[in-house]
Amino acid sequence: MKQPEIDIEKIALLGEQKEKENFDFRTFLKGHDFKRIDKIVHRLDKEIRSQINCKDCGNCCKSLRPCVTNLEIDTLSKIDNLTQHDFVSGFVEIDNFEQIKYLKDTPCKYLNDKLCSIYTNRPEDCKSYPHTQKTEFITRTLGMIDNYGICPIVFNLFEQLKEELNFK
Ligand code: SF4
Ligand code: SF4
Repeated sequence: MKQPEIDIEKIALLGEQKEKENFDFRTFLKGHDFKRIDKIVHRLDKEIRSQINCKDCGNCCKSLRPCVTNLEIDTLSKIDNLTQHDFVSGFVEIDNFEQIKYLKDTPCKYLNDKLCSIYTNRPEDCKSYPHTQKTEFITRTLGMIDNYGICPIVFNLFEQLKEELNFK
């Protein structure tokens, strides 16, 4: 099994340098069978996750803002001992156009060193990040490119997928 790259600074730099290559790979993937790609992605994802420990990273929690549902806002306000109104005023950003609510601070207010201080109550968006275990990978490559320079799982997955598909 190939040793994954876990150097966050190097991954961020490669994210900038390989942006065009990644968009070309996105176009290349569109000609492939969805189910075949999902099968390969899920196998690679499993192999890469067995070699990367999120507890040693935490970069997503430093860099990204998770979406939160109203139910999750209710849970988090209770954890913080705030009314929902005060919690939303202080810690939530609302995208009225897309009708999405986010935790607005980066790094996330719940990040303690590299660990989530509310792990069992973390939002669903955090639980499913980096979304590589979902199906229809080919339809989500734009998001993958956004996360390529942030998350070592996505970075290594994209690179190993290029190799496996002989992408030049
Ligand atoms: S809630 Fe926890 S898992 Fe989600 S971004 Fe914040 S620290 Fe990370
Ligand atoms: S999901 Fe990715 S960015 Fe987040 S902690 Fe794990 S390896 Fe790091």
